[in-house]
Amino acid sequence: MNIVIFGPPGAGKGTQSQRLEKELGICQLSTGDMLRKEVASGSELGQILKTILDEGKLVPDETMVKLIEIAMKDPDCEKGVIFDGFPRTRPQAEALDDMLKKNGKRIDHVIVLQVDDGALLGRIQKRAEESGETRSDDNEETLKKRLNVYHEQTAPILPYYEEQGLLRKIDGMADIDKVTDQIFEAIGHKKAA
Ligand code: AMP
Repeated sequence: MNIVIFGPPGAGKGTQSQRLEKELGICQLSTGDMLRKEVASGSELGQILKTILDEGKLVPDETMVKLIEIAMKDPDCEKGVIFDGFPRTRPQAEALDDMLKKNGKRIDHVIVLQVDDGALLGRIQKRAEESGETRSDDNEETLKKRLNVYHEQTAPILPYYEEQGLLRKIDGMADIDKVTDQIFEAIGHKKAA
């Protein structure tokens, strides 16, 4: 099963993706995590990426498509993937469709976590406190930019999936367990007791 999860920064995509990964036995591909790993490696590419991430901007489509194409080849991803943070633009969405099609696969569900913009700053502050490590893009100024990018470049892809009947809108304001339950219900999955 292949699932895409959308939501503004701080909506809980990472947390919910990890739960889906565990329950469904599919692999979570978080492009944000991949990019942060490259930044942490201190490579030349990592330094370029850090500037982009800290500005809250998007990494070029071509780079992202290559990154995800390589990651999808992992044998652990054979059973299915939860795409967390990808696609973020229409060209990325089209590239993903092409890549899956080439392998006789398709997207089964597109989940969108709906959270009020006003609640997001508090959530990312909580994330920083709980994880003990602060992401350099988890601050008020960059959050505003990331939120603008989400509304201007990522949210406009949603109708593309809605037209295909794949969009599952989830109330991301509910507590974490309730959000997880809603997602399982939306994708028709019954949790083992
Ligand atoms: P995330 O952890 O998903 O919030 O991503 C953190 C940052 O990584 C974003 O603000 C972007 O700068 C970058 N990023 C992650 N995924 C993508 C993508 N699919 N396309 C472009 N940039 C991305």
